[in-house]
Amino acid sequence: MIIAIDGPSGVGKGTLAKSLATHYNLALLDTGLLYRAVGFICLTNGLDPANEDQAFDAAQKDILEFLKDSRLRTEDVGQAASKASVHAKVRAHLLDFQRDFAKHPPKGYDGAILDGRDIGTHVLPDADIKFYLVATPDVRAERRFQELKGKDVATTYLQVLEDIKERDHRDRTRDVNPLRPAENAIILDTTEYSIEEVIKKSILAIEKQR
Ligand code: C5P
Repeated sequence: MIIAIDGPSGVGKGTLAKSLATHYNLALLDTGLLYRAVGFICLTNGLDPANEDQAFDAAQKDILEFLKDSRLRTEDVGQAASKASVHAKVRAHLLDFQRDFAKHPPKGYDGAILDGRDIGTHVLPDADIKFYLVATPDVRAERRFQELKGKDVATTYLQVLEDIKERDHRDRTRDVNPLRPAENAIILDTTEYSIEEVIKKSILAIEKQR
């Protein structure tokens, strides 16, 4: 089974993806980490993520070695990732790895689950099931703010809200594979429902389609 989950930042994609991965024994790929690794390499090598050639240079480095690095989780890296991800060359370069992961998940798994922005629309248009999560920017910013506070990151709610709105705008309006629901995606609103309810609803939807 192959599952695609898309949606903006702070919407709960990661939590849903982890739960479904455990429930169905699926290999999990958080595709945002690939773009974050590119953003991180730009920031640490004096490359400009907004410049297509420089972002592409960064994408060609060994990005997989950074995927477990906690420094990828900062808001600065998120912004750099969002800037690097608008470029067609960068996106094309990361595409094969994502498709290959879904097609040939590591041994022992019964399939794969990928979460990101363009998984249902572009990376895996034939996924068995697609979810698209939504929530208001305020709710997403509050969740992200609490998470960062818990990690002792110095920031304010308003700063987090600004970052989220800026990233949303860039991700939704870029020319190449912008953030939007696939036609056959199941839309789940995580403003109205708790993450536990969203997990239950997703499992019900998957069972219905199996
Ligand atoms: O999901 P996360 O916040 O880690 O993603 C960081 C950035 O990477 C996003 O803001 C988006 O610009 C980009 N991204 C993307 N396509 C994906 C996953 C992430 O463009 N499939």
